Parts: sequence; C-alpha cells; structure tokens
Amino acid sequence: MPEFVSDGLTGAHQDRIADLVAQLRSVEPLASRYRGVSSVATLEQLESVPVMLKEDLQVALRQLQPRAASGATWVFQSGGSTGSPQVGYAPTGLYMHDVYAQWKALGPDDVFVNGWSAGKMWGAHFLVNSYVDHAGCVAMNLGAMTKDEYTPWLEFFAQRKVTSFGGTPSVLRLVFGHAREAGIKLPDLKSVLWLGEGWDKQLDEDLPVVAPNARRWGMFGSTETWVIGTNTPECAADTWHPLPTQLVGIGEDDLLDFTCLNPEVLNPVLRYRTGDAGRIVTCSCGDPRAAVQVLGRRDGLIKFRGHLLNVADFVGDLGALPGVARAQLMVTETDNGPVLEVLVLPAAETAGLADRVREHVVGSAFGPSIVFQRNPHALEVAVVDKLIGNDRTGKISDLVVRA
Ligand SMILES: [Zn+2]
Repeated sequence: MPEFVSDGLTGAHQDRIADLVAQLRSVEPLASRYRGVSSVATLEQLESVPVMLKEDLQVALRQLQPRAASGATWVFQSGGSTGSPQVGYAPTGLYMHDVYAQWKALGPDDVFVNGWSAGKMWGAHFLVNSYVDHAGCVAMNLGAMTKDEYTPWLEFFAQRKVTSFGGTPSVLRLVFGHAREAGIKLPDLKSVLWLGEGWDKQLDEDLPVVAPNARRWGMFGSTETWVIGTNTPECAADTWHPLPTQLVGIGEDDLLDFTCLNPEVLNPVLRYRTGDAGRIVTCSCGDPRAAVQVLGRRDGLIKFRGHLLNVADFVGDLGALPGVARAQLMVTETDNGPVLEVLVLPAAETAGLADRVREHVVGSAFGPSIVFQRNPHALEVAVVDKLIGNDRTGKISDLVVRA
C-alpha cells in the first residue's frame, strides 16, 4: 500500500484532486481509467487513484493545452537529447513563491551567478531567475561556459565578490574542480545552489578548498512537477523536505509519485511517477517534518557480459582516482560482444593516466574485473578533453549506450 508524506487532505486539497480527476477523465485515452474514481477526501481514498506515467501526462497535455489564468503560459521540455521532448507548462513566476516561502537560499545582500544553461526550452535557468525575484538580490545570468572560459569568469566572480553560484552538479563539478586546479579562491562565496541531478561527492572535496565558506542548497523536481522539495546545508544531500503544495507518495518498489496540490499548477499531475525511488525519513537537520530520501532511479544496474554492474558506484570509484576529474562509461555493441569504454576527463597531467585507470579496473578485487581478466578486449580506456553530455542542460550521464 502506498504511503504519503502528509498530515491529511484539507478541503482545498480535496477540491484540487477532484479537479485533476475531472481533467484527466476528459482526456479520451485516459477516461476509462478515471471513470471509477469517486471523490477523494482521505489519503486512504487517494491510494486507490491510479498512478500516471510520463506518457500519460504527455497524452493529457496534448489534449488539454493548459493556459495560465493571467500573463504568459510557458512551455518547457525535459528529457534527453534524443527522442521526442516531454513538455511541461507553467505560468510566469514558475510557482517560485511557494519555494521562497520555505527555502531561503538567497537573501537581498547576495550577488548570485546563474550558471544553468539557457535555451532549448530547458526550465532550470528561468526557474532560478524567478526565485531570485523573491530574494531581491543582485543577479548575473552566465549560462553555460566552455572550458577556456572558466578561469577568466572565476576571476571575475572573485573581483565582484560573488556570494552564490548555481548550476547542475555536472557543471559545478567541472567549474570547482578547475578552480581548485588553477588555485583560484572565492572567499566571498557562501552558497552553491543546485538542481537537476544528484549531488556530486567530489564537490565535498573541491568546494572547501576553493570556497571555504560555501555550502550547498538544493532543489528537487522535474519539468512536469516543478519543484517538489528543497534541502539546506544541514540536510543530507539526498534528502528533501516537500513543499506544502506537493504531495509525495511512496508505492510499490519504493517508487515515488507526486500530486501537485497548488490549484495554479497547469500540468495535471496526479500520482505522477517519474521513476525515482525513495523512502520516508527523519532528516538529520532537526526539522521535525517528514522528509523524503531519494534513492535514485531503479535502473542503476546494468548487465555487462553476464555481470551486474552498478554504474554509479563504478563511476564514483573511478572519479576518486588521482588525476581523474570525472569518468563516464560507454557501452558499445560489437561483433565480438559488448565493449565497455571508460572515458576519463583528466584533472591535470595525462601521462600514463589511461594505463593507471585500466590497471585499477582490471586489478580491483570486486566489480567487473573478472570479466576483463577473461576478455581484455572488452575494456577500453580513453583520456578525453570532453565527456559526452547534453549540450542543452550541461548534464553528463554516467552511462552512454551505443548500439
Ligand atoms: Zn532537512
């Protein structure tokens, strides 16, 4: 039976859920699923409402074409760089009032740099600008940087006494890793805002060296649900406090589902399942409200030549090797079976690095080493100057699969 992170449904919540059910029932391909759903007054009754998957929401949005009550209606897209985009709608403001009410990552005295890339209909850059409006601070829209631009921009941030920098953890890791290598210090930096991926533990090593006063402040959500929860430096990086307007459920296989209770939310998000798993915990920050620890996606394991491989653990292990800024796995199908290529972004000196990484993988006492001892040709290591990422979002996934 699903559990919900909630003290119960108010009258306004019940009205919102009734409205969501009515909207979804009006969508022809979904109608039969919601026909049997009567009024939902309690969390027990919500348990019997069917969960929605990504494609269900896209079907609903194609028909409903929601419009904001006032101002513009913005369309953003999520999803990878391939395949048809998943869209989400939002009114101007992107619901950031609710976020600012709960989460004070920035205040009026801050000088903030927005390092999320802008364009291609990705929402993060604009969402954070809407948040900044509530904080009333000084803000600079930087967007994506190329490697050659890191040093001059970092020096500019130091001169301008920038107090806060925000970006996707993939980007933050490269920026702060570079700053550490280059010996650049940001003593005025107090906060690092992050959104879009899990926290990267390498930042716990690099940030204290570059910016000893900086601490992490995270937001969790998706283009379809918008911001679901937030955390502070006192919370574990994988643990989130849901906004009062977001109802989080935890169902079979620990899969999370989300219901947007704010009546202004344009996407009909009712028990919407994103594929993330989680569990209800008491947060270490001391906030007595229940929190959700996000355990990541259920698809973190791959089978490589019969051996189960935990991609995140493997990449994390490689990323901790001396001289490695970050690693990425690429699996390619060949006539001789699958080949695992380890792409290594070097931290500095590259001489002998590929050999050292290879020796580490093959010599490990655990993991897939046995596969490569038997099939040496199934492992390749390449030192590269750029990992394979999404140009739109700056996100770099741990695993790339090539047919
Ligand atoms: Zn907390």
